[in-house]
Amino acid sequence: MHRQLTPLPMNYMKCLHCSEHSALKSEYLTFCDACGKKFPVIYKDWLAQHPGGSLEAFGREYGISEAEFTALERRKARKAGFTGRKKLTLAAAIAVFVVCTGLSFLYGPYLMAVFREPRVSAGLLEEAQWRTFRGHLIRMQSPLSLKPESPEDRPNMRVKAFQAGGKTDGIVIRMEESVYLSQSSILLETAAQQTARSMETRSGVSRFSYTSRELQIDGQPALLQQGSYVLRETAPMAFQSLIFVRGGSQVQLLVTHAADDATGKQAADKIMTSIHLN
Ligand SMILES: [Zn+2]
Repeated sequence: MHRQLTPLPMNYMKCLHCSEHSALKSEYLTFCDACGKKFPVIYKDWLAQHPGGSLEAFGREYGISEAEFTALERRKARKAGFTGRKKLTLAAAIAVFVVCTGLSFLYGPYLMAVFREPRVSAGLLEEAQWRTFRGHLIRMQSPLSLKPESPEDRPNMRVKAFQAGGKTDGIVIRMEESVYLSQSSILLETAAQQTARSMETRSGVSRFSYTSRELQIDGQPALLQQGSYVLRETAPMAFQSLIFVRGGSQVQLLVTHAADDATGKQAADKIMTSIHLN
């Protein structure tokens, strides 16, 4: 008795077009509930060949049971949920990317400064910035004021240095004057090799290379070294180093800037071509 009060378990027909299932609610089910395409076999045709057959028998043969349908739907829902979570993760990743890109536009110069040396600002090239700096042997034009460092005594040598620029300027201008205490004259070539050697052996310097050429300053020979090196394995740097000697004294004027900085190169060129003997 009880069994007859319970509705008969429903069967479900699978659509061959969209793979959705339609409940076999009545003997008139002909079209897919989801896409409206006609089922290949319908109950009326089947019944003609199976006299005495029932809708339930038809459903068992061509459809799936209520239990199978429920399990299928549950699996589908789980899959949809998983896809949803993946979409959420992707959305979060995109958001992080957009924020980072935005920040790098806003704070680009600052962020890049973490990875490479700063660049020389175009304002540094403005004529009004430039002034004469006069050392012991030479003088030149400089866009920054050179400040004296305390004199340094090396074996047989007294060194006086003046420097301008640094981290934030993107350029360093350094004049180093050395007096050999026991030599009344030194060779230009020797002095140039020694200054190059001391640059090459500075800590953090690698892949040091340069070319050298002789030039005349007010009729006197000097050597100009132009080269590059990598600082701390990360920052490619360029330099120009001018060496001049007179008797037992030598002077090195060194300008360094980031290797790919065209403004820095312009500033360095301008300094080097402004040199005169005192
Ligand atoms: Zn369909």
